[in-house]
Amino acid sequence: MILVSHIRQFVFCPRILYFYTFCDIKPVYPEYVSSGSQYHNKQNELFKNRKFIKFKLPIIKAYSNLYLQDSSMQGVADLVLECQNEIIVAEFKNQNKPILNKGTKMQLIAYSKLASKHFNKPFFKIMLICSNNLKFKIFDINSDDLAQFNSTIDKINKMLNQELFPQSCASIAACMQCEFKNYCDDRE
Ligand code: SF4
Repeated sequence: MILVSHIRQFVFCPRILYFYTFCDIKPVYPEYVSSGSQYHNKQNELFKNRKFIKFKLPIIKAYSNLYLQDSSMQGVADLVLECQNEIIVAEFKNQNKPILNKGTKMQLIAYSKLASKHFNKPFFKIMLICSNNLKFKIFDINSDDLAQFNSTIDKINKMLNQELFPQSCASIAACMQCEFKNYCDDRE
């Protein structure tokens, strides 16, 4: 069973998933992790009074922190918008601009697939929300994105089955913000 949050971590660096899965290490989290948690707690509070009219979408119901699962993946989506003819999964980001990186895109596709099964509705878009006043951006998902997602899942399953410490192409900047940098000193 793959945790959806691990998909983003795997894309950031496959070694992170290896450390979480196979090593009994308690990582030291960088400062931005706790400010991210505070931001999410605030969004959870704000959710109670929000109608999301600003999105101009035909929303039937909005679900906050929705647990989703199928036979291969599980996770909790920040926000799922059940619309008339589709579902849209959104993620809150503690950043000033809604910038979508590959890891977050793969993670949101995973939640969208789970939510699509749960609500029996298709998905065509994902959404990022940032700031406290619902600054948002919607991104279309195309067939290349879905192929990239399938390839990522194949790579994750391969690593989990082989149990081999993977190579990493993470940048020095990525390593500097990594919770495992003190355990990972032979990167090529
Ligand atoms: S320190 Fe760098 S190479 Fe090692 S797990 Fe973290 S991101 Fe990956």
